[in-house]
Amino acid sequence: MAQAKAKTHTKAKPPNLKGESPGTDSVYTDALGFFAMDSNVPGLSKVILQKLNMKNYDDYREALQGQKVAADFGIRTYHDMFQRMEDTFKFCAECKKLPEALVDPRALRRCKRCQNVYYCGQECQRANWSVHKRLCKKLKLAAIDRLVEWLVFTGDIPFHSGKWTRSMAEVKGWDEWFLMQEDLDAKLGAVLSCRYMHILWANAGKPRPEDEELVASIRRVTSDFHTRPITIGFALCGFGIAPSQAPVTVHVVGASHTETLDARRTDYDELARAFPDNQGLEVVLIGPEVVEGPAIKAPLQSPAGQGHVHLSGWKGLYHVYWETMVEMERAARPDLVIGFHPGFHASQGLTEGWLPTLLLLRDYGIPVLFTMYSEQELTYSLRILEELEVRIVSSGWSPFASLKLEQVQSNPSKQLVSSNSSYVMLQGAIEAVPELG
Ligand SMILES: [Zn+2]
Ligand SMILES: [Zn+2]
Repeated sequence: MAQAKAKTHTKAKPPNLKGESPGTDSVYTDALGFFAMDSNVPGLSKVILQKLNMKNYDDYREALQGQKVAADFGIRTYHDMFQRMEDTFKFCAECKKLPEALVDPRALRRCKRCQNVYYCGQECQRANWSVHKRLCKKLKLAAIDRLVEWLVFTGDIPFHSGKWTRSMAEVKGWDEWFLMQEDLDAKLGAVLSCRYMHILWANAGKPRPEDEELVASIRRVTSDFHTRPITIGFALCGFGIAPSQAPVTVHVVGASHTETLDARRTDYDELARAFPDNQGLEVVLIGPEVVEGPAIKAPLQSPAGQGHVHLSGWKGLYHVYWETMVEMERAARPDLVIGFHPGFHASQGLTEGWLPTLLLLRDYGIPVLFTMYSEQELTYSLRILEELEVRIVSSGWSPFASLKLEQVQSNPSKQLVSSNSSYVMLQGAIEAVPELG
């Protein structure tokens, strides 16, 4: 039986946490995101907990930490699983009412076109239309993708990809990545007709889209799976770090619990395929939310073996890792540091949480790449980095942004975003100009 996906989107700016906030622990971005939903749709966090059979946020955290097994969610059938997932999207997109707040909960009906957002009636739908009409098409794709994404869990996505036939510098984006895949049509066709694709649409409570739409979705979800390892490759290339010359250690800072709980040993293998003649690659996931489990091994003391990616993890703040592991020579010094959506721009608390890390990376002159969900986030992040007198190497749109669109669960009227869509590369500090004598 599949595990329920307890995933929240943390794209919205965190609110001021009041009342039932989980605490002052500003390093836990997921908690911020979780309760931020209630500022848009009061009670939505409760609905999600209830659908997952959980009493409170502590239960939810435990589940994310891997301390709860799938059976505890109380999910018995595929139909039930998909139904519960859909239920967490059921509220009026205009007046934000949840079903139980309506005289007749059945009055809540889905937009027929996108099959994604709900309205309590025609009045609310009309009031929302000027906003929704610009997002309806994208929301339709998002609704398909969040179901198709289940095939990552079942192991059907991604399909098997081969060694890169072109160098990282030559592959300019997803189109070229897909073109490199041998027998692509056959591989996409195999996913399209796999057993779980069939189970999915027999239980999803929505009509199965056309094959063409599903293939497009498989491509988007595949890009979403590989966006992180390939973004690392993009950064190595940008900094001129050649894994063919020497073993490479990459630190992923601020890795979240969902990233590490769902982690499989093979998650970053695309990076080894991108550099088939590599001398050894180690990717270390570091952060206070890292889940220490069977998939995550201890960091290596000596270089990783040639030809593959060694995935390891460490739970704690980055500067502590640096002091206790790197400086004590219990783990390798990084050649590159990556932060996927660190979100340090989002609030004062987060800036404080990230500050020691940012200063450390600057002062040791480590090549760093951070990604963002949107151009706006990039602008905010650049402002902070400039204040810290960090030397910006380059920034802009990333060619390996996920093609899968993410909607803000609690607010379907917000522009959709995609993972790793913007990036900033930085190294060291801005050089001080000598004083005039
Ligand atoms: Zn309404
Ligand atoms: Zn719609």
